Amino acid sequence: MRARRRLGIAAVSAIAAIACGSAPVATPEARPASPAATAPDASAPTPAPPDAAPPALDPPPPPPSTAIAAEVAAARLLGTAAVPAACATDPSPIACMLDQAFAADPRAAALARALYTETGDVAGPGDAEIMDGGYRGRIQLVPALPIRGDRQHLAWVLAAARDFDGFFAGIDAALPAVTTARRYRWRDLDVRFIRSVGKHTPSAFALPWTFSYNVQGSLLTSEAAVRETLFHEIFHMNDAAHGAWSGAALRADYDAIVQRCGTTRAAIPCLTPYAPGFTKVRGGTYYAFQPNNGDPVHEFAAELALRYYVEQRQMLHAGKLARPAFKCGPPENARAWTALVDEFFGGRDLVPPCP
Ligand SMILES: [Zn+2]
Repeated sequence: MRARRRLGIAAVSAIAAIACGSAPVATPEARPASPAATAPDASAPTPAPPDAAPPALDPPPPPPSTAIAAEVAAARLLGTAAVPAACATDPSPIACMLDQAFAADPRAAALARALYTETGDVAGPGDAEIMDGGYRGRIQLVPALPIRGDRQHLAWVLAAARDFDGFFAGIDAALPAVTTARRYRWRDLDVRFIRSVGKHTPSAFALPWTFSYNVQGSLLTSEAAVRETLFHEIFHMNDAAHGAWSGAALRADYDAIVQRCGTTRAAIPCLTPYAPGFTKVRGGTYYAFQPNNGDPVHEFAAELALRYYVEQRQMLHAGKLARPAFKCGPPENARAWTALVDEFFGGRDLVPPCP
């Protein structure tokens, strides 16, 4: 969530948190067979050419595109199996279909088009479904195109997507000597807007290269909160694409912390040094340690990634951190931080070494 740093603990604890663990983000076998979902990410090893191969005469093939296919966008935006004839010959069929889908609100259409042309993200309505929200219970979700009264949400998503581009470019500019590949994707996403009926959770949840955004979500009330919620969700997608990395890499320390502290509300003081985020579940504990929320180590990892985003962003914008660096806490924190930074972000860390 994020971005409740100015609120006190009592206020924070009243905020229900993101439903992520209840979404099948960590089950790659559940991915739909869409190009957006199956596009290999940068973590896929490139097979080495055999030694005996003659020198290549042709240029190497371009990297696989992660862009969303026009047919996928047609189904999402217009409910049609094929791209409509009016858009099929357009230089940008998806932009054309966005114009059609958002025709009732030209200002929203302009936002959706900007989001697509700048980042490859395709915004549209999500699916009607009954979701098992874990500790939140069952939740009815209905499609919600972000127009008119909901247009602000689309504007916040666009602002977040632009921020992420600037964020990674800023880190690269600040660390020009680091050439290690960053194995992290934040563009070319399917953005599905939904509305929860009678509830304000989940605020968002992740599927492979897809995030669902609840226009009724209790967390999604400002540009900063949307930015941070999206970063958390996009990390889930990357974690899943890395073979549910956090389940293996972070679990030993995570389980030991939970064993030592527990996960009740009374455990909050014990958990505080290890909590990468500040979001708490109402009546529960830190979101990173909340039980009955899918595999909680994935939530810990997403909160850790969010902490990476928050701290790097503060270093970029202010040149210093607003609170002590997470990695400079207990040894478990340093281990988790280094593992995450190396796995996803090419080792790039603007936070100074610990004293
Ligand atoms: Zn999550």
